Amino acid sequence: MHILSIIPPMTQLNTPYPSTAYLTGFLRSRGFKAEQTDLSIGLALKLLSVEGVQAIHQQVSALRPKQHTVGTRLFAEHFDSYCTTISPAIRFLQGRDPSLAHRIASRRYLPEGPRFASREHYSDTPQGEGGTLDWAFGALGLQDRAKHIATLYLNDLADVIRDAIDPRFEFVRYAESLAASQPTFDQLQMALSAPHTLVDATLHALTLAALSRYQPNLVLITAPFPGNVYGAFRIAQTIKQTHPSTITVLGGGYCNTELRGMNEPRVFDYFDFITLDAGERPLLALIEHLQNKRPLDRLVRTYTRERQFVDCKEPAIAFAESGTPTYAGLPLDDYLSLLDMLNPMHRLWSDGRWNKLTVAHGCYWKKCSFCDVNLDYISRYDLATTDVLIDRIESLISETGQTGFHFVDEAAPPKALKSLANALLQRKLDISWWGNIRFEKSFDAGLCQLLAESGCIAITGGLEVASDRLLKLMKKGVSVEQVARVTRAFSDAGILVHAYLMYGFPTQTAQDTVDALEYVRQLFAAGCIHSGFFHRFTCTAHSPVGKHPELYGVTLSPPLHATFANNDINFTDITGIDHDLFGAALKKALYNYMHGIGLDLDVREWFEQHASVRRVRKRAHRRAPHAVPRTTVPPNLIERVLA
Ligand code: SF4
Repeated sequence: MHILSIIPPMTQLNTPYPSTAYLTGFLRSRGFKAEQTDLSIGLALKLLSVEGVQAIHQQVSALRPKQHTVGTRLFAEHFDSYCTTISPAIRFLQGRDPSLAHRIASRRYLPEGPRFASREHYSDTPQGEGGTLDWAFGALGLQDRAKHIATLYLNDLADVIRDAIDPRFEFVRYAESLAASQPTFDQLQMALSAPHTLVDATLHALTLAALSRYQPNLVLITAPFPGNVYGAFRIAQTIKQTHPSTITVLGGGYCNTELRGMNEPRVFDYFDFITLDAGERPLLALIEHLQNKRPLDRLVRTYTRERQFVDCKEPAIAFAESGTPTYAGLPLDDYLSLLDMLNPMHRLWSDGRWNKLTVAHGCYWKKCSFCDVNLDYISRYDLATTDVLIDRIESLISETGQTGFHFVDEAAPPKALKSLANALLQRKLDISWWGNIRFEKSFDAGLCQLLAESGCIAITGGLEVASDRLLKLMKKGVSVEQVARVTRAFSDAGILVHAYLMYGFPTQTAQDTVDALEYVRQLFAAGCIHSGFFHRFTCTAHSPVGKHPELYGVTLSPPLHATFANNDINFTDITGIDHDLFGAALKKALYNYMHGIGLDLDVREWFEQHASVRRVRKRAHRRAPHAVPRTTVPPNLIERVLA
């Protein structure tokens, strides 16, 4: 049996998504002939080539005057320049031609579209700071400066593809809205029945080339996010149209969260099977079935056309036995190191290639009320020994030649990280690593120092809504003061800290939101955190809030009759607050804090700059001079805690 695992478009462009690496490593450890290919980077590189740019130009030329945007016009004007520069720019971003940085950084080499203009003028901060590019160019070295310019250049091209060819196109996600919480398959089916766009046609050709190269009879397509699902179905469509006897299987994070109640026969026109949760055990059972060694009704966590969902409840493969991931077969030198965000912590997500590993399967805490704690990927906590982890690290270094690791755990346990750090130091294994944790008390100054010595360069963790009342309600198990102390211990050890932030949690008031931003401001000002990201709270079907809304003061909308995806649930909060009014202001404040701007401002100014909040303020003007309340957090609270 020849097995091919495929990463469908789009995922991040700087490093392969690790799912196929895990599956391929596992299948090879069990003696199967398994290969992998990344059609996400493959598609991006085809579109961002001379032929790709010429094909984009053909479509731009066919636009009627009214259909043009500023970006498509500029692209058409500078088409010759795009043709000449695209290959050198890609080679530069792949790290193959560093000396080109001089020409790129001169800003006379690459054509500049609207993305450059928006960066020049983004800083409508209250003090009227200089533009991002000015700021950045004072702070960045030549290579980074050129990388940032080349990234804006690619973003301009992605916008042209979106405006002229396929409105669903984006780097890192593609046609996401067709799959995210879509209760029926209708929209996806309609899109899949439409004629190929240039993007579809390119993916079709890439799929045919992969089939011809690997000649698989079993193809595993992994869809981690809604932004990979349309691509996954297009790939499966090509396989079924051209190689109907090839078995296609869909798995991955999207299926695990969204397809748990699926009942849609049309899906099986594309996929023969869909597996849920960790793929190793279901795949072993499926392969035995395909080899006539196991009946259909003995499959594990698998949807089939004939029987709907089959699960004979065999236990998952232990994390320690899931094999060492392998990147063999993936074009490691082709990935693009992009510099979109200039923040030194934030860039880790797009810049540089990281070997991705997990310290453990699942989360040891598994209590947070907004999290999918009822699903296997969180609830089944399974830790391998430090020796197993070190073996995997050594194996990946010898395979890839690269010593950068990203531990993509839900929350890596402090004890395991301590043991790993000691082992790395004892074995003199020099790596750079970063990973996701909870801001546990046990990360004290001593442990943070040890982690830094073992190669830890950055950590990410959830502060969510910086409010002790809401942190308690969401069962996060941390307080704002604890987060301040822990993050300070990390930053004192020279480790960058990124905080996942949230707004719109049930019962969150305008006062909570203002106070939370004030805490965040103080944490930035005190050097505890270096970057962050505000997520809007969503109520998911598998979280405690979704299961027991009455405990959180929300009423869920009546369930839709979902035959396809089901994850996000609409709800009404007793506060009646429209959190969308605050979202843009929170994100803008954070973006500025990450660039060191506006840290001395009253946080209300961010909200009051924002047009929609201004409207609320106008309406409320007679009652109060500010629609947004003054913060109740003392201005030096975090400083005092740290002292
Ligand atoms: S949010 Fe993070 S820490 Fe909380 S249960 Fe989920 S994975 Fe664990």
